[in-house]
Amino acid sequence: MTYGTTDFEIRQEECCNATVYLVYPNPFMLEGSTGRRLRRSRRGSPKSSRERIQQWLYRFLKETSFEPFLSLKASWRRGGQEGQWFWARTLDDLASCPLRAYYSLVQAKGSIPYTIAGFEFQRKAIRLLKTLEYFEAFADPGIRGFRTSSEGLSVCASFGEIRLCGRPDFVGLFSNPFVTWVVEVVQTSDWRKTLQRSIYRLDFYAQGIFELFGLPISLSIFAPEALIWIVLEDHKWAIELEKRVEELNGMLDFEIALKRAKRVSNRPCQSCAYKRLCPLSKE
Ligand code: SF4
Repeated sequence: MTYGTTDFEIRQEECCNATVYLVYPNPFMLEGSTGRRLRRSRRGSPKSSRERIQQWLYRFLKETSFEPFLSLKASWRRGGQEGQWFWARTLDDLASCPLRAYYSLVQAKGSIPYTIAGFEFQRKAIRLLKTLEYFEAFADPGIRGFRTSSEGLSVCASFGEIRLCGRPDFVGLFSNPFVTWVVEVVQTSDWRKTLQRSIYRLDFYAQGIFELFGLPISLSIFAPEALIWIVLEDHKWAIELEKRVEELNGMLDFEIALKRAKRVSNRPCQSCAYKRLCPLSKE
């Protein structure tokens, strides 16, 4: 379904049990004055490109008539980073490969394969997001190995004996609409794949940020080719997330993780940070 606006359009799609809204320039406007401006922006300097994306983001939030999703009703308990805890990023590893989750858990980190270009994209996107009209923003532009200082928000929750902690890339508190916006910045050409891999982590962030501020949450992925706005169904994801965290805990056992990984076809071994350690990458 496509909703026309003046300069931009919003397309609605279903993916991974979530409703997704994509924002992109209206092709019919390309012949008008706005179109000329957009065309110039596309050819133009990084500054004009930044302005164009900024305009997207601004209008997306200001003009949309969709309601952001309200918090899930999970039994959320906050906890510190002491004792046994996992990074929320390891949920993404589990979605890719159980052995990858094992290596990430024992090394207490998430293995998302960052590159310098990816890091630069993330930094620029966060700089853009920070130019919007928020009343408070928290951003985490650093990543492992490059991290300098972070102004990001940490969220931690207990799931039984297991604690999960994470830090969203960007959290903005807006007054119009009155909403908290949680954004994950990724350098990907396939937002569906990204959403499939990261949806549990995004859900976890959304719940944690709601716990902190009590405002409705809007959830987005910001990629080079697409800005998507995600609406999750209430309740369902809360239960799924708990199950997924339990599953993650099981991956602390190498033999179990190995057995599970052997059943997974289509392993993304080329981009895996653990391919030198992993016995399966040599098979
Ligand atoms: S190298 Fe392949 S099989 Fe091994 S942990 Fe990485 S993704 Fe999994």
